[in-house]
Amino acid sequence: MKNNILLNIIIIVLLASCNNMNDNETIIHRPTKTYLEESHSYAQPNDAVTTHLDLDINVDFETQVISGTATYNIVNNGSEQIILDSKFLEIESVTANGVATTFKLGEMDATLGQPLTIAIKKDTKQIAITYSTTAKTEALQWLTAQQTADKTNPFLFTQGQAILTRTWIPIQDSPQIRITYDATVKVPEQLMAVMSAENPKAKNENGIYNFKMEQPIPAYLIALAVGDIKYKSISDRTGVYAEKSMLDKVHEEFSDMEKMVVAAENLYGAYDWDQFDVIVLPPSFPFGGMENPRLTFATPTVIAGDKSLTSLVAHELAHSWSGNLVTNATWNDFWLNEGFTVYFEIRIMEALYGKDRANMLALIGRQDLEDELEALSDLPNDTKLKLDLKGRNPDDGMNSIAYDKGYLFLRTLEEKVGRDHIDAFLKSYFKKNAFSTTNTEDFIVYLNENLLDKNNITFNTEEWIYQPGIPDNAAVIESDAFSNAENTLELFLKTNKIDTAVTQNWTPQEWVHFVRNFPPGITLEQMKQLDDTFDFTNSSNSYISMVWFEQSILNGYDGNNVDSKISEFLNTVGRRWYVTTLFNAFAKADRIDEALEIYKTARGNYHSVTANTVDGILGL
Ligand SMILES: [Zn+2]
Repeated sequence: MKNNILLNIIIIVLLASCNNMNDNETIIHRPTKTYLEESHSYAQPNDAVTTHLDLDINVDFETQVISGTATYNIVNNGSEQIILDSKFLEIESVTANGVATTFKLGEMDATLGQPLTIAIKKDTKQIAITYSTTAKTEALQWLTAQQTADKTNPFLFTQGQAILTRTWIPIQDSPQIRITYDATVKVPEQLMAVMSAENPKAKNENGIYNFKMEQPIPAYLIALAVGDIKYKSISDRTGVYAEKSMLDKVHEEFSDMEKMVVAAENLYGAYDWDQFDVIVLPPSFPFGGMENPRLTFATPTVIAGDKSLTSLVAHELAHSWSGNLVTNATWNDFWLNEGFTVYFEIRIMEALYGKDRANMLALIGRQDLEDELEALSDLPNDTKLKLDLKGRNPDDGMNSIAYDKGYLFLRTLEEKVGRDHIDAFLKSYFKKNAFSTTNTEDFIVYLNENLLDKNNITFNTEEWIYQPGIPDNAAVIESDAFSNAENTLELFLKTNKIDTAVTQNWTPQEWVHFVRNFPPGITLEQMKQLDDTFDFTNSSNSYISMVWFEQSILNGYDGNNVDSKISEFLNTVGRRWYVTTLFNAFAKADRIDEALEIYKTARGNYHSVTANTVDGILGL
């Protein structure tokens, strides 16, 4: 069965590549392609597919509703209907070539939503859907003024990945389908709108903003943020958006952004999106960052004051190649987006800050991977790189396997073939597949042809991708700094003494490693002593806070008022990784009642993707 599928896919790849002969870097090619069967979208793009969106919407903070019209250019391959994805939307009317047409919303699926089937004719070139969002929308988070940094105006942001764009725009919501878009967005006059598109740099008087995205992107990368924000440039093509009280801090923290873009281009070719800006959102943003093209969305938890957590920007920037330029064809291939991006991120960090920092990052990921493997010990199939998420929410695959096992695969491959070879290979892979999608099977074919067979190298690619766990040949990652942190911890546990001269110049990463490695037998007195010496409970670095709070919960440490700090943290920060780590610790320590008490007030501050995950942890 697998072989037949592979053969079909190879044929599809060959067909798809026929129109792909032109290798000029700047040409955006959208070949007439055959789309693969995909289980997380109702769209049938081989019958009729959208190619361009013209979005005209009004953002109403009073009613917390977005309403307007989504007009699409379509290519119809002779079908009498076109199917879009829709979830929790009110569809008011639909036209085809400007004339009213019939439409039907199908049965509701809890994960996928409803198919929106629209009647079209053979000559239909354009459809328009007038619609509005509802209170159940999962992509949008409406924040009160109190939930922002400045506390004077409300805020709105969207999160589209994986399949949430369909909850604010009726759309063919499959990563295989790329569209260009224009948008007109009306917002309250005191606010400014920005999108994953060419953006305004200042507020205008009427609250109407126009956007253009000329490079074709998948639906999950369409993004909108509305708030009382300002822009400050770093270079001609990089800059930051943030609320007024955050703007200078953010600008300072991310001041190496242009250098990062240059380092990335030196590795894997020209940056193809013209502008690279970052907007720092209020703390409830559910992710570290989201790689919305031209405008990365980021959590304020990385604003540490010392640039120590800016690998996040390198990560989102790397997605401009892996993910945004070359997109996973289905969510089962998510590791192609994330594993490649972690590899690329760590290479950017190495180019800018040296091997030591890069190896620390790699080793933290390695430890995350061990934790994930342990957490998934009853679900070995979920530890494969290539997943089978049919019938499940694609968010189930968004864990350390895709990121860190994906990274380890590429790092091991690098050590096997040599850096020059892997760099040349990756550069050609990005160029070949630019503004297109690829899946795991395409990748293996390309890898064999362009790297392994060509250089007579054998590598256990299939084992890495299709088998659970970590193969025996995994690269060993070492960091002297982390070995030193481990030795310091060991000595302290034996002697109850710690030499602060040794720890004086530690980076936050070393502190994180030190704290994460507390053994189960550490005593409360020892934790108190460390807390009194290093003031972990009041750390201003969110990453150190998170691992310290985790250890406090697991070990029942309650010194220096840490419990109220944990509660405050969970009531402010909505970053899913942080929040779920702490709620998981409560669950592991059998302290669910305390967790539920905190969650009562905290849940209202979380985006749906965070709240849904925590609901699962707490059995709600
Ligand atoms: Zn990523």
